[in-house]
Amino acid sequence: MYKKIIVPVDLDQLERGARILTMAAALRDADGQVILLNVVEDLPGYLAIDLPVGLIETALKDAREKLTALKDRCGVEARVEVRSGAPAREILAAASEHSAALVIIASHRPDLSNYFIGSTADRVVRHATCAVLVDR
Ligand code: ADP
Repeated sequence: MYKKIIVPVDLDQLERGARILTMAAALRDADGQVILLNVVEDLPGYLAIDLPVGLIETALKDAREKLTALKDRCGVEARVEVRSGAPAREILAAASEHSAALVIIASHRPDLSNYFIGSTADRVVRHATCAVLVDR
């Protein structure tokens, strides 16, 4: 159905990630690709200056390991991609660089149930140039 699907996962919400990854596996073409993505958030310069050297590199490595474990646990073949920056902007950039046909995103943390959709998901829905499926 879809050739390239981006699945952005927040590492604090791995169970939601497992759910949208499984959904992506069902919706991709037989020869399609799933890109499992995490964005390590940039810190403002005034905070970053006080942090130990290598902290971002460690966070990137940790994210890659967690995403790899997630796809293995779900038994879904996927390309793992980790970027740093602002989550919504990087999710949109990845979708455009890969010419993705679909982004599947979770709506928000379950405990924030009075909100329709989280801020990252909201920005992705508003600005994506491909289809976006929001898992609520
Ligand atoms: P909340 O405010 O509840 O965290 P968000 O809109 O930030 O809601 O998150 C909703 C979804 O957006 C996540 O489940 C995930 O799919 C995606 N997302 C959020 N942050 C990131 C991130 N840093 N990297 C990749 N995906 C993310």
